[in-house]
Amino acid sequence: MPQGTAPSPGPRAAGVRWDLSPIARDAEAAREDLRAALERARAFEARYRGQVAELDGLALAAALAELAAIDNQLSRAGSYAHLREATDALDEENRDLASVVDRAMVEASNALRFFDLEWIALPDEQAEALADAPEVAGDRHYLRALRRFAPHTLSEPEERMLAERGPAAVSAWQTLFGRVTSTLEIPFDAGEGDEPHTIDRLLALLREADPELRQSAMDALFVGLAPHADTLAHCYDTLVGDRLAMDALRQHGSPLEATHLRNELSELVVDRMLAAVERHYPLAQRWFRAKARLLGLPVLRLSDQYAPLGETRAVDYAEARALIDNAFGRLDPRVAEVARGFFEESRVDAEPRTGKRGGAFCAPVAQDAAPYVLMNFTDRMDDVMTLAHELGHGMHFTLSSERQTALSATTGLALAEVPSTFAELLTHDHLMATETDPSTRRALISERAEGSFATVFRQTVLSRYERRAYGAREEGTTLTSERLSEIWVQENARYYGDAMEMPHGYRLGWSYIPHFISTRFYTYAYAFAHLVTLALYARYRAEGGDFAARYLDFLAAGGSAAPAELLRPLGIDLDDPDVWEPGFAEMHGMVEAAEAA
Ligand SMILES: [Zn+2]
Repeated sequence: MPQGTAPSPGPRAAGVRWDLSPIARDAEAAREDLRAALERARAFEARYRGQVAELDGLALAAALAELAAIDNQLSRAGSYAHLREATDALDEENRDLASVVDRAMVEASNALRFFDLEWIALPDEQAEALADAPEVAGDRHYLRALRRFAPHTLSEPEERMLAERGPAAVSAWQTLFGRVTSTLEIPFDAGEGDEPHTIDRLLALLREADPELRQSAMDALFVGLAPHADTLAHCYDTLVGDRLAMDALRQHGSPLEATHLRNELSELVVDRMLAAVERHYPLAQRWFRAKARLLGLPVLRLSDQYAPLGETRAVDYAEARALIDNAFGRLDPRVAEVARGFFEESRVDAEPRTGKRGGAFCAPVAQDAAPYVLMNFTDRMDDVMTLAHELGHGMHFTLSSERQTALSATTGLALAEVPSTFAELLTHDHLMATETDPSTRRALISERAEGSFATVFRQTVLSRYERRAYGAREEGTTLTSERLSEIWVQENARYYGDAMEMPHGYRLGWSYIPHFISTRFYTYAYAFAHLVTLALYARYRAEGGDFAARYLDFLAAGGSAAPAELLRPLGIDLDDPDVWEPGFAEMHGMVEAAEAA
């Protein structure tokens, strides 16, 4: 639909809802799709179980094509169900459909697990020759990469047992943690009398302009967490103990090895990155001192860290669309065109409403279907950045599924956040070139700097904390609340130095962070992706036009190679010890701009 023929959305993106009908006609059609995919998965098992060692290149290609088709059909139906649930989790039909999907996914992976295991069990020589066959060129990296888990994979019955016990042994602790942290209601008076506050609601108050409100919200948070600290520590201690036991069973050399393997990053590259971030802690401290000055404080308190330095003007949804269109168009017309597809084909659900989940995400949906974005647009400048971020993911999904198979389209964690962060930087620069409101400009500049610090530095602190916790547990020390607090305070003190005052309550800062519980060392991948993006952005600015084509190729390559190979054509050499310096130079520039704003 060309712009102008659609009614323009009201305030807070009123009326901007997605249309899921291109994914599935209705719930019954999605169930039908699921049934068909499961049948195909069972037929696949009947056809190929015990046969993988007998396949030649052509037969392997046929098997992979069938696997990709099953994957595609499953994720189409699964995405449809989860997208419906995301906008109305209370609707019974949505809940029923989502649980049917969850069961089908478990059943499908039980049926298909043998294939990966038989592939992994092939002798190196045979597997190499097969992966080299021209017929499987599109999935060559996928095939080779699966084998990196070979030394750490158990027999099929053992793997199945581990998968079956997961819900009780692992998920139960994660669920308990989630229950405690999401149902916690802390009485707090934000100016309208005592009201129960969730953790998120208290954290949101740390971005308010009133310093006393910020401080008392932070105090209330830690007072409210204290009675639960032992339970939360016990959840973590049990999960760390379980992960270490699994590591021993799978013969992993260190608690980080499984994560590095999954991210396809070497220990050396990650260690160098973390050390480089730590060397630059003084840059962050310089910013904290500058921020104290700008706020008129002798020293920054932790509750002032995200205090606003200016107020941003309101932006309605139509303007947000236009801003993003122009910002993306500056990189390449194709990028703007992909983003327009989301709007014109109603693939964005932006209107906040009851029953819809909070936050934002971009769902890849399936290889033969277009991606969708969910967010809650409230006419704030932040929302423009969120929309740009999710469309950045959308760019990646759209371009990679055009060129890759369903098995090779998705990138691992290490690079997943690169296109989204890059889209934010493009939008930020466009805003800085066009925005005239001085207060909005000031806020944008400081938020850009703080966003980078929160990702690069803070996630590094978190990852150091995790390492030490696993190290202590390996030595037989129980991770009690007191011990976790000790490690937490030490690692944070290294970062903040004397540029930040930490309140005593912050000892419990570790207790509510979900990533420690859900995925270990997820934290460093955030820092990695952000630094990669800053380095890429520096190149884009230095090289101009020629860069855009290579960047689009990188997006279209999806997960068809390891991060090091994907980044090399863009001039990022992960083996170079100084590879991170351009990223820090960018951050240096952000601090200077913010100091001067
Ligand atoms: Zn993201």
